[in-house]
Amino acid sequence: MKNLDTAKKIIEKALNSDDTYLNRLTGISNTLKKLLEGYIPEGFIEDIKDLDTLPPKKKRAFLNYLIKAVDEAREREKNKKLQKTHEEFYSLEDLRRLDIEDLKILKNIEKKAFRKIGLNNIEKVFFLPPKKYEDRRFKKLGKVKDGEYGLFEVEVLNVRKIKKRKLKTHIIAKQGFQFLDIYFVHDKPFLFTFFRKGKKVLIYGRISTYRNKKSMIQPEMFTEYDPVIHDRIVPVYSLKGDSTVKITSQTINHLRRGIFKILKKFLKFYPEYLPKEIIKKYKFPGIHNSIKNLHFPESSESIEHLNNFEAPFQKRLIFDDLFILQLAQILRKNLLLNEPSEEINIEDTLLEKFKESLPFELTEDQIKVIKEIFSDLKKKTPMNRLVQGDVGSGKTVVATASALAVALDGKQVAVMAPTEILANQHFNTFYNILKKFKIIPVLLTGSLSQREKKKIYRLIENGDVKVVIGTHALIQDQVKFKNLSLVIVDEQHRFGVVQRKALIEKSNKLPHTLIMTATPIPRTLQIANFGDLDVSTIKTLPKGRKKVETVLLFDDERENLYKKIKEEIKKGRQIFVVYPLVEESEKIDLKSAEEGYNHWKEKFPECSVLLLHGKMPQEEKDKIMLSFREGKGDILVSTTVIEVGVDIPNASVMVIEEAHRFGLSQIHQLRGRIGRGKYEGYCYMILPERFKYPLDDREEEKKRQSTVERLKILVRTTDGFKIAEEDLKLRGGGDIVGTAQSGKITFGIADLSRELDRNILEKARVEAEKITENDPFLNNNKLLRKIVLERYGDRFDIAGIG
Ligand code: ADP
Ligand code: MG
Repeated sequence: MKNLDTAKKIIEKALNSDDTYLNRLTGISNTLKKLLEGYIPEGFIEDIKDLDTLPPKKKRAFLNYLIKAVDEAREREKNKKLQKTHEEFYSLEDLRRLDIEDLKILKNIEKKAFRKIGLNNIEKVFFLPPKKYEDRRFKKLGKVKDGEYGLFEVEVLNVRKIKKRKLKTHIIAKQGFQFLDIYFVHDKPFLFTFFRKGKKVLIYGRISTYRNKKSMIQPEMFTEYDPVIHDRIVPVYSLKGDSTVKITSQTINHLRRGIFKILKKFLKFYPEYLPKEIIKKYKFPGIHNSIKNLHFPESSESIEHLNNFEAPFQKRLIFDDLFILQLAQILRKNLLLNEPSEEINIEDTLLEKFKESLPFELTEDQIKVIKEIFSDLKKKTPMNRLVQGDVGSGKTVVATASALAVALDGKQVAVMAPTEILANQHFNTFYNILKKFKIIPVLLTGSLSQREKKKIYRLIENGDVKVVIGTHALIQDQVKFKNLSLVIVDEQHRFGVVQRKALIEKSNKLPHTLIMTATPIPRTLQIANFGDLDVSTIKTLPKGRKKVETVLLFDDERENLYKKIKEEIKKGRQIFVVYPLVEESEKIDLKSAEEGYNHWKEKFPECSVLLLHGKMPQEEKDKIMLSFREGKGDILVSTTVIEVGVDIPNASVMVIEEAHRFGLSQIHQLRGRIGRGKYEGYCYMILPERFKYPLDDREEEKKRQSTVERLKILVRTTDGFKIAEEDLKLRGGGDIVGTAQSGKITFGIADLSRELDRNILEKARVEAEKITENDPFLNNNKLLRKIVLERYGDRFDIAGIG
């Protein structure tokens, strides 16, 4: 080992000196030969003999080659030593338990990089997904194309200060007979020490070619070669995370080195958890190979392939992500199926009687869904059903039918709405229908007096009240049910899984659950996010629904819009104006709504304009919505806080300001709020005037074009499902379901905005179903179960299995 270290020092010294010195350097052949014999391949030793006589360039090239061999030999020796001292072994549990902070193999600065991104265990490091890859392989100047990135070893010919627009320093360098102009936009002194005339330097950057001249702006510079980050495709990780930990331009390299060391030491102990049959069927690479490649891909992979996430190891890891999620959902489903629940006795004639009690005819889809729910309720196992349908498709009636069935059988129902105003609205709907069946629901919200609440608590506890409609007030500890058998949750994306659970836990047996959402969820997302639920869909809208005419226009075309609005207001209609919610900053949100408010007040001085924004307390928002519903106010200016589901039949125009900042599904939901009454509805999506003029930046321009194209989809179609599919492609799905608060599924490497990943999801679903068919709790696949529970045990409340 000592020999190797000495040899390395000698070679390094030689490499760091200039050509004149190298030329004069003789006598190292013998020294190196003696030091290295027995450590490196014999052929290599033979070549060393001629080293002294080589011209400097060849000498340097050979030494560069040699030092890699020496490094490899040192690595081998180290490993041998380790194995001799003690045979190490780490179990899966060890890998989860070991704290990064305690690892002796890491430097403090590397630990700090892990702290930055909040990684503390080795298993998580294995699966840390790079957001992209960079090609940092050595490239030849003579062979690179315009726009290509690479690592270059060049010799500095000249360095000087210049003043050419923003450019301040110019370096001329060469590699063989190829020249390169390097520019910096500053002239800090370290540039002049780094780029000394005659010195060979390592730089990484993007080549631009113009009239046969190659140049590079602001390359990264390296004083020494490091095999972990040089001459390979390197991963780029997101460094978002703990904002108290400062980062530098080197943090990413510390992270790379840290990960490299961790993989080297621990990866071999990580167990292959994927069943052999699946690996074979899909010809997946093994887990070690996959994880190693995830961070340090083999040079044979093309950078495009990698950045499209379609290399074989990437496909496998994407599959793993989705497969594990599917297993978690199926485990949850199976667990629920094992729990007994209240069987509901439903008279065969109930549906007919229900229909007769309504002032309108149910749509075919409503009937279909009610039947599905009834058949679920009759079972001994708990229902877990999601009802999805566009705004205005009539989900509340369906919920009412379900509540009726349960209440008539003497059991209790809880209906949870996200806001007081919605709870009120539901209460009215439920009340009007249920009273015909002599069932009187109660409303429980936070704004009731303590005395009223107590009275209601008593009624719920002794079972006198069968149907309770309310807000979060329903999950207070004081609320105790006698025999809660059905939980209905409206607009589920506003509720956390936690709240849902809290309500479910108020029952001795597992209650049936019905979740209603106005956001159509594309099949892929259904599988991904709600794989543990059965899904019913209401597609047809009730008869007589007016179509909402949707128009896309530019800021400077507003006069027509104002004319239209004036006409509508004259007819007694009401207008919604919605500004985008700027989530990063509530202040901006407030400002944009307030500015908008002033603008509309100015434009419509004779009208009454109301303002609603996210900073207001819920009570105030409810009050404003209510007074608007009662017709007080012609125009309601708001940020996107306006409640989904509030019925304002008199509103006929929806203006979406800065439409490009909204998701398609979001706009679709907003426009669903109008055209609900007897009147035609109009939706105007407004784009800034600057959208008329193309941008210089081609990438940005392309993005912008596609945003506009997508908005046009809203003009063409009112099919919420088509729209949601498009949104999914555009935004990857998280926003569609809006599950941020309700435990949105975050993947490691999978990303459902990619078509490939969506296809893989289908396969993952099939395989997960297959494997759990005969092994519902993965008792015969304990390792796989461990992996699933580690990731989703808490989230899906399945940690107790096994
Ligand atoms: P959402 O699906 O958005 O929750 P609602 O249940 O609030 O829709 O229904 C919207 C409106 O349509 C309500 O006023 C409701 O009474 C009415 N409605 C529901 N079903 C029908 C139907 N089959 N025919 C006519 N009107 C209906
Ligand atoms: Mg609703």
